[in-house]
This record gives sequence, structure tokens and C-alpha cells, in this order.
Amino acid sequence: MRGTLKTPYGERDGRLVNVSTVEGGKACGCICPGCGSPLIAHKGRKTVHHFAHESEATCNPETLLHILGKRLLLDRIQAAIRNKTELPIQWDCAQCDDRHEGDLVKRATKVETEFDLGPCRPDLTLFGPSGKPVALVEIVVSHAPDENVTEFAKASGAPTVQFDLRSVADLERIAEADVLVPTVLDLCRRPKCARCGDPLSRLTLRMFPMSCTSCRRPTRLVALEGEGYPLGTSGMTADLARLARERGATLERRYNRWEHSYEFVNVCPSCGAANPAGPDSTFVGVIAGETATPAGHICVNCVLQPGATPPARSES
Ligand SMILES: [Zn+2]
Ligand SMILES: [Zn+2]
Ligand SMILES: [Zn+2]
Ligand SMILES: [Zn+2]
Repeated sequence: MRGTLKTPYGERDGRLVNVSTVEGGKACGCICPGCGSPLIAHKGRKTVHHFAHESEATCNPETLLHILGKRLLLDRIQAAIRNKTELPIQWDCAQCDDRHEGDLVKRATKVETEFDLGPCRPDLTLFGPSGKPVALVEIVVSHAPDENVTEFAKASGAPTVQFDLRSVADLERIAEADVLVPTVLDLCRRPKCARCGDPLSRLTLRMFPMSCTSCRRPTRLVALEGEGYPLGTSGMTADLARLARERGATLERRYNRWEHSYEFVNVCPSCGAANPAGPDSTFVGVIAGETATPAGHICVNCVLQPGATPPARSES
């Protein structure tokens, strides 16, 4: 980034103002929030309205971008807390690949800039009613994100919300977008598996017609699917079996002598033969299932590898 930054934001009486709300030229009465030197409001017809420094100031554009990002976000967070309104936020989750939605100020009652948390001073710290940090906001312009903030976030359970700023357009998004979209937010909204800690998959109960493998008469098979993972009847619980029976499945609990356990199997209503729908049974029928019933969540990891040692969980 070279030269001075042309932004629509200046400072007057200690507050950020948009160039659209001030008089043109020197009469704007604004100073640069970065270096403190006087600004001129350019409100001509040829260029996008912006502030420029009155004299060729030595104003670092990266520093200015950082300061503006921080203050614009601070203003929005303070306004949302004060007015008890939401500050919608959306992020692409690195843990489960979903795009999650939330409210940045949901648990926040106070926000501080550069608050000394001991090991770190995040750009903005949001505090909850108990006085504990609930979110740490970092504005990243040219430097890598502060590792101390990331470490503190992990230890405290307050997520880091990182906004990377490259341009004035990024600033305007922070100031005006209905929904904030941070570059990084390390928080997964999905329920986690109590056993292995993995984010759970959405579970679908799929039913499809087939001929009984024994008597060839028509029957219906039920199979579970965890977001693209065919699970057959593995992972079938009594509650799920009840739901499947309501949808027309014939399921029985039978002894599996290979696994030395009882498990649910699809049974032919005509001859009583078991029709297996294991994870390795043909999935074409499952995909083309005649019905798909949402059935909560399931841990695909634990169903497909029931004997596997659960991976070590990060914090415990
Ligand atoms: Zn400046
Ligand atoms: Zn997630
Ligand atoms: Zn699991
Ligand atoms: Zn049969």
C-alpha cells in the first residue's frame, strides 16, 4: 500500500464521521484518526467522495486501516449493546464446513479496546455479564494474527473473531454490512459427539423398496445416512427404529454372532428373512430412497469405527 489512504471516514469531536455527512473542503472540520492531521473532504463530481490529508502527511495507510477497522467495529458493537439489538455474523466453519450464523453481541454486555487480559491485548474484547471475555476481536491488516490472542482464546473458551482488512471496501463492509463476515471465527455451532468430540452429522432416515433377498417378494429397507455417509442399520437406536417403523419399516433386534451383540436389522414382512442394509450394501437405492426423514444428528466417526480409540480432546 503506497501513499495515503483515501477513506470515507474522518474524526470530528472524537467520533468517526462519514464524508457524506460533512461539508466539503476544509470546512469539514475533521482530522485523520490515524495521524491526527487535518483532513479535506473531497466531494467533487469526478471521484468517489473521500477524505484526503491537507498536507502530504506521513500517515501510514496500514496503521490507518487498522485504527479505522477497530473503531468502526467498536462503534457497531457499542451501538448494538446499547440498543439491545443483534449484530448478525456469518462464518465458514473450519471444523465442519458449514456456514454458521450467530449474533456477535449475544452474550456481550461490554466491549473494551486493547484491554489487558494478561497474556494479550486483543483489539477488542467483548465481556459477558459475569465480567468474563466472551469474544476476542482481532483486526488483521499486515501482520499475522497475534498468537497470544489465539492461545488465550483456546484456554478461555472465548472465540477469536478475525477480520482481515485489505482495502477501503473491507472497511465499508465492517461499517455498513447487515451481516458481518469475519475472515476467521474458530467456533463450531454443531453439537459435538459426547464420545469422540467430532462435530455431529445431520442424520437422515431413508426408506426404499426392494425385493426380499430370500423370498423375492416386495419389502422395504430402511437405512441411515449421515450427510452422504451410508450407515445402513449401523447406529440404529430404539428411538430411530420406532421412527422407521412409523414410516413403514419392519425392523427387528437380532443377535449378530460376528459382533456378539444385538442389533436392528431389516426383516422381510412376508418370510421373516433378514435383509441386510449395512454400510457396504448398495447405496444407490438409499440415494434414490422413496422417503427421506430428518432424524437429528449422528456421529459418523463412532458408527463406522465403533472400536476405534476416541481421539484426544484438545482441552481436557
Ligand atoms: Zn493520517
Ligand atoms: Zn461447524
Ligand atoms: Zn463420535
Ligand atoms: Zn422374504
